[in-house]
Order: sequence, then C-alpha cells, then structure tokens
Amino acid sequence: MKKKLVAGNWKMNKTRADAYTLTGAIASSSGGYGNVEVVLCPPYLYLDMAVSMTRGSGIMVGAQNGCHEPIGAYTGEVSMGMLRDLGCAYVILGHSERRTCFGETEALINRKVRRSIEAGLAPIYCVGETLAQRHGGSAFDTLNSQLVYGLEGIDDASLGGAVIAYEPIWAIGTGMSATSEQAQEAHRFIREVVRNFSSVETAARLRIIYGGSVTPENAAEMMEQPDIDGALVGGASLNADSFKGIIRAASVAPFRVTGAEN
Ligand code: PEP
Repeated sequence: MKKKLVAGNWKMNKTRADAYTLTGAIASSSGGYGNVEVVLCPPYLYLDMAVSMTRGSGIMVGAQNGCHEPIGAYTGEVSMGMLRDLGCAYVILGHSERRTCFGETEALINRKVRRSIEAGLAPIYCVGETLAQRHGGSAFDTLNSQLVYGLEGIDDASLGGAVIAYEPIWAIGTGMSATSEQAQEAHRFIREVVRNFSSVETAARLRIIYGGSVTPENAAEMMEQPDIDGALVGGASLNADSFKGIIRAASVAPFRVTGAEN
C-alpha cells in the first residue's frame, strides 16, 4: 500500500529550543498518524535531536541537503552516509532555493541523488518551473529535463522508493498555491515521464508530492487528486497546528492504488 507522505521543510528557521518544542508537539500527537508517513526536515544542527525525539513514533527525519561526495576534504559539507548514520531516512535534493541561491546544477544534483541512494537515503527530488516558463509554455519541457537529467542512472528499484516533489517556483513561499488541477496535470506528466524511462510498476510505486504554499485549507483538495501522493510543506510546517492540519487532510484523502493507469 502506498502511504501518503507529508514532509515539513523547516529551511533555516527555529532556535534549538523552538525546534525541540515543535518536534515534541508533532511527535506526541496521540495515536500517531496511521496512514500518513510524516517526515520532519529541520536544519542539520537539530537532526540528531529530531531523530531521538521521534524514535518509535513512526515519524521519519530528513535532511535538507547532503554532499555529492562520500568523504574527504569538503569543508562545511555533510555526507549522505553521515546523515544515514545519524538516523535520517530522507534527504531533500534539488530544491529551487539550492538551485537559485547556491547555483546547484542538474549535474551536481544528479550526483547527490545517486549518492543519497548509495547511502541508503530516499531522495525527495524537487522539480518545478518558474512563472515565466509557465507563461511561456515551457513548464513541461522544464520538468522533463529536470527529471531526465536529475534522475539519470537511477535503477528502477531505487526510483520506485524515491519521492519527487513538484514545486512550482512561483508557488513557493508566495501564498499563491497552484490550483489542484494545475498540480494534478503536472503530477500526471511527471509520472508519465518516469514511466517512459522506467516501468509502469515503478511509476506507480513512486510518490509524487506537491509543494508550494500548502496550507490546512488547500491541502484536502490537493490530496484528493489521483496523482498527488502528499505534500512538501515549508511555511506551514513551522507551526504544529497547521502542519497537523495538513497531515489530517492527507489522512482522510481517498486511497488510490496507483496513478499509473491514468
Ligand atoms: C518549500 O520551500 O519546499 C515550500 C513548499 O515552501 P512553502 O510551503 O512555504 O511554499
């Protein structure tokens, strides 16, 4: 059964004390989150604490980045192996903020994706178009090349266990979410692209989650779409009540075996 996945990307926010409080509020939710896989992605410094605090709760922890090399003289970097060793299960890669603020290229991101899989982490690989690309009619070409180059060389088994986050850049942190129709159209396209370079089974197993101004209010409609398998949440993940509201929306969304038959 494919569980919906709701991941919180805290970005560079929270003090240690705030991170402790927020993690505690999410981890202590009575009864757990059952049919939704919840992933917390705090800054590196709080990962260890998040792993300890969520142990036994079913909540998973992910990093927001990782190095493309496994070990050595890379000052300031953290390897995927270190993240796995710490207890992380996921790593966000290819986020538009990494692409634009830190100049990460498709080639570098592909190396990171490969390295994460070698280390036993599941990548949450982010793709998405700018507003200019959407208006100019090249949104789907952009997604296609991000998928083809970013996921090059990944075997089917690993690809099926990965997560792709469709994050239209114009919707990130702007309060202007994609409509559920726009998101569904993009997710369906992403699944088709993946199916073309892997298999029907892999594309069906793959979780494709939506990111970009998700709130408890718009989450339910998103989660009802056949190819939307969850959410990557930025701003709304910084508050326990709003993050839990999104998880709740995912937990009541209709279960679908696969979006691959679309
Ligand atoms: C993000 O940056 O991954 C994100 C989805 O942010 P927000 O929810 O704040 O738009």
